[in-house]
This record gives sequence, structure tokens and C-alpha cells, in this order.
Amino acid sequence: MFEQLKLRNADQKQCKEHLDRLLPRINKDFKKDWISHFVLRLAYCRTEDLRRWFLTQEVALLKWRLGHAAAGSTTNALSTVLPEATLVPQRDLEGSNLMADILASTPGIKMESKIYQVPFIHALDLVEHRQVFVRGGKAFVPESRLVNLVTARFRASLSRQLVLLSAVPTTPGLQRTQGFLKNVTTVHTVNDQFQADSSNVTNLNSNNVPAHLKHMPLCMAQLQMALQKEKHLKHWGRLQYGLFLKGAGLSLEDALIYFERMFAGKGFSKEYAYNWRHMYGKEGKRANYPPYSCAKVINGNAPNANEHHGCPYKHGTVQDVTNLLSRLGVTAQQQKGIIAQQQSHNYQLACVEHFKATHPNIERDSQVQTDNLGNHPNAWFHASVSIDKLNHGDDDKLNVNSPTGKGTLDDSPPSMEVSP
Ligand code: SF4
Repeated sequence: MFEQLKLRNADQKQCKEHLDRLLPRINKDFKKDWISHFVLRLAYCRTEDLRRWFLTQEVALLKWRLGHAAAGSTTNALSTVLPEATLVPQRDLEGSNLMADILASTPGIKMESKIYQVPFIHALDLVEHRQVFVRGGKAFVPESRLVNLVTARFRASLSRQLVLLSAVPTTPGLQRTQGFLKNVTTVHTVNDQFQADSSNVTNLNSNNVPAHLKHMPLCMAQLQMALQKEKHLKHWGRLQYGLFLKGAGLSLEDALIYFERMFAGKGFSKEYAYNWRHMYGKEGKRANYPPYSCAKVINGNAPNANEHHGCPYKHGTVQDVTNLLSRLGVTAQQQKGIIAQQQSHNYQLACVEHFKATHPNIERDSQVQTDNLGNHPNAWFHASVSIDKLNHGDDDKLNVNSPTGKGTLDDSPPSMEVSP
């Protein structure tokens, strides 16, 4: 939830509306809250990226809870996590120039604020940003900033515990839960509207897939360009891209025609047609497999050499992303914000920046649903196509229908080539 609000650039009011609805439900059942926290620890301790993501969300949740809890909750939490913090008696503040120094060095502090002193190493964040007065190795922190101390301590302790947990060997008892724990990190918790066919919006068919390249997020554009160049996709690429196109509204019949053409007849019907029928629930256990969410793509298998699946912001270098964006016509100036987010490991925010760069009138087109941008590749696609329709009406030029289903559309635009 915190991540989604961040991706949507939600302001304080919107955050409050969402979280006020959600948190009372969590707070009502502490037991479930604790259990889910520890299950998530097990699920998210596995890699550094997962740990970083989990820490960010847990710290945001704690901050929100403390900021909206009853008066005194932060000081109670502080006495538990940081017993070294002590309240500076009023007489000490008044009896010397201490209060004057604190007032001069602490932005936004009120005269009547209670002041706590802690060893400055516990308030490094505040010290670094010159938010507190430091003397004799002690930082003097006003009550309004105590939440920073609590969350810093919580973050350090949780981070240490996650690292320790990741080193614990898997016992036979835990082995049984490994599959479940692995899946927790790839589950998309928002209502999955993209399981359903969205052909009413996209009119996708076997002839116009390449023409929709401009509506694809980088992960899918990368696969489309690689397919055009190499006339083949490896297993994970076929799955990621095949399910994406299915969610985007490409029917099984059109998918078979399109990929057979793209694979240039390299034994497609014999080797791969089964894969597609399986994806569409026509073979095997006939499950209706949904397209991958960003969480699944980002936390899934990293691509090896000659593979093109995954999220380029996560699995590629800055150079890879720059090359891909340039091929898609994103200017160097527009790339700056995207690359900055990639370098900060905010992969999904980088993706949102890409959308904003290619859809500068996103505010004006506010009737288009952009809620899941950065959360689901199909949301990116859906929003981009919807904006295009809004601005240009039904884009019939994309529908190059031919009676044979083997249109004459050039599948390999020269500017979209991918280096091997
Ligand atoms: Fe694709 Fe999601 Fe990565 Fe964007 S953030 S490139 S939609 S996986």
C-alpha cells in the first residue's frame, strides 16, 4: 500500500484517506499483524533487494502508525527501543544557555518543546541534515523529532535481523514452506484487473502488435525488440511476453499466428504452440494464468546472457536502460529522471517516470486509469493506449487486418533494433 501511494505520488490527504481505512483493520487483530510481519521477514530476507524493499515499507508503516497514534506512543516506543534517550529536565534547559543554543540550531522547534538527549550516533540522520543541536557527544532532540530516532533504531535492528535470518540454513521444517515464501514476494495484491481480456480497449491482433511498441513499458518493449531482432525468445521471455500480450487482449488464435510468423517458422507449431495453448488455459491443468505483475518480474529469475526477460531497471545496467530508451525515442533530457530513479534502486518509480516522459499530458488525461502504473506492465500498456485513444480516437491505423491474418506490416522497424 505504501509503495502504491508513492507510485501514485499521493499527497498527505490521499495517504490519510487510504491508510485510515486500512490500518484500523490491522490494528484490531495484533496477532495476525505480528504473524504476517514474521512471515514477511522469512519471505523477504533472501536477497539484498528484497530486504531493502521490506525495510522501506516497514519503516514507512511504523512512521505512519507513530504519527497517527495516541499522544505518548512515540515516547513509549522510544523507551523500549532506545532506553539511552533521556528527557532533559526543564531546569537544566533554563539554567544555562542550552535552550538558546537548541533553539538556534533546530529548525521549526517550539519554545515549549520537551527536549530529549541521546548519544549522537543514534541520531545520525538528524545530525547529518543539521536538524539537532549536538554538544559533548549528545544530540538534543525535540519531542517532535523522536519518531526519527525510533524509526532509525527500528530500521537498524530489523536490517540486522534480516541479514542474520538470511544466513540460517533451511531446515526440513522450513523446506516445506519454501515454495510459498518464494511466491509471497511476487504476488500482486491489488485487484488483478488484467487477468481479464482487455481487447475492448486495445484491439490487439496478430498484425498490430509491433505497432503497439510505443505503448509498452520497457520490460515488454525490450522483449518485443529482441523478438524482432532474433526471431526467437527463450523460455522466461516467452512466458513474460506471451502472458503480457494475453492480458493486453491478444487472442490465442492471433498469438499463435503472430509468434509463428515472428519465430520465422523455426518449428514453432511443433515446439512452442503447446506453450501458448498452455498459457491460455487450453492445455495441462487448464489454469487461466494471469500476466506477470511488476513484483513478479522484478523479483523473478534474473535473465542470463541472450535472455531478455525481467525488468531492465532492475536487471539491466544504466547503459542498457539508456540504450533501450534512446531506441524508443526518449530524449537524453527525459532520461535523466528515469535514470536517477534507477540508480536509487526505485525501479518502479523509474518506470513511472518513463510513462510521464512519454505521456506529458497525463494530468490533462486524468479520466484514464493510471492507478497501477509501476505496479503492473499491463496497467502501463492499458493507460498508454487509453490516452492515445482519448487524443486521437480509435487508432485504426494500428489495425492492419488482412483476411489471411498474415499482414504486410513491417515487423522490424529499423530504429527499433536491439544489439545482441
Ligand atoms: Fe516492467 Fe514493471 Fe519494470 Fe516497468 S517496473 S519495466 S512495468 S517490470
